[in-house]
Amino acid sequence: MNRSIYLDHSATTPVSETALAAMLPYFSEIYGNASGIYAQGRRAKEGLENARLIVADVLNAQPGEIIFTSCGSESDNLVLRGAAWQARRSGKGRHLIVSAIEHKAVLDTAHQLADFFDFDLTVLPVDGQGLIDPDDLRAALRADTLLVSIMTANNEIGTVQPIAELTAIAREHGIPFHSDAVQAPGHLSLDVETSGLDALALSGHKFYGPKGVGVAYVRGGTTLMPMQTGGGHERKRRAGTENVAGIVGLAAALAEAETLRPAESTRLATLRNRLFDAIPALVPDTRISGHPQQRLSHHASFLFAGIEIQGVLMGLDMVGIAASSGSACTSAAQAPSHILVAAGIDPIAAAGHLRLTLGRSTTDEDIDYVLETLPPLVHRLRQFSGR
Ligand code: PLP
Repeated sequence: MNRSIYLDHSATTPVSETALAAMLPYFSEIYGNASGIYAQGRRAKEGLENARLIVADVLNAQPGEIIFTSCGSESDNLVLRGAAWQARRSGKGRHLIVSAIEHKAVLDTAHQLADFFDFDLTVLPVDGQGLIDPDDLRAALRADTLLVSIMTANNEIGTVQPIAELTAIAREHGIPFHSDAVQAPGHLSLDVETSGLDALALSGHKFYGPKGVGVAYVRGGTTLMPMQTGGGHERKRRAGTENVAGIVGLAAALAEAETLRPAESTRLATLRNRLFDAIPALVPDTRISGHPQQRLSHHASFLFAGIEIQGVLMGLDMVGIAASSGSACTSAAQAPSHILVAAGIDPIAAAGHLRLTLGRSTTDEDIDYVLETLPPLVHRLRQFSGR
């Protein structure tokens, strides 16, 4: 029997039936440009604004605070660059704070602003489990800090930050706080009143919506200079004819993920914990990466000593299991992942990093199959490499 088990839901997810059904009419009969004043345009605009209401509702935000973008990376770029350029324009602030384990959409943007545009940058360290120390944030804040950007949950090691505690510190000093929350939907609350966030980034394809569409939430009163200029779309904050079908699909997927969240995150954590209990017991010299409890419910990640994970990934693929290392670099010969390095993992150990991220299709039988196939595979590869 040919098995096909997808365990890379942090990389992307399939489009749900709900999201697909919501999108389909917008590819055919409702094709108008949402800026048109005629009936076709108005119908598209209605779909767009209804999607905005749905997203705002899940975030406990105002519809006018939702900006639709082309992806999570664009949303991060828009918030960081938009805040930095606005600060430059108003002469208020030249310092940014980010964490060392941010996705490159945040980290590279922050470095570019520092390296080429004369902003100051503080990169906060994390501990061995990927957590920020709130005292480090407190100590890094300056009178001229224009933005703090710390991700809600990490894509590679699954660690979830104490965001409400961190935003409270920035808020005491009146400094806006952005979070890359791309990995959060379906697993964590996105309520911006509870979290205290002033901005956040989401990406449709991480929660069973389509690829190529994202959200930037920006709290009212926080002014960003637009990064993409042109027409007056998205209240002049992001020019470009809206991807109405994608936006409608994203909104339907987000609402569905939020409805399913309580039951699904509990179910996934139970399955994930089976991996956490069994794999280190079945495979010697193995440890969990990231925080064992404060982590995404569907996220399991491991460090296998004495192995390069590429061979494991290929072996898993041959038995029908799609998994990943969690980062683009999987060989000790290449630069190790900046996230693992920031968590204090040495390059040799980092080469043995495996990420298994579960999703709606994952069953108990899938976990049985992983537990049957993975340990002997690691064992064989270690033998080949002379361990
Ligand atoms: N931020 C995080 C934490 C991610 O995991 C990803 C995607 O892997 C992104 C940002 C980028 O999202 P997108 O692929 O929509 O640009």
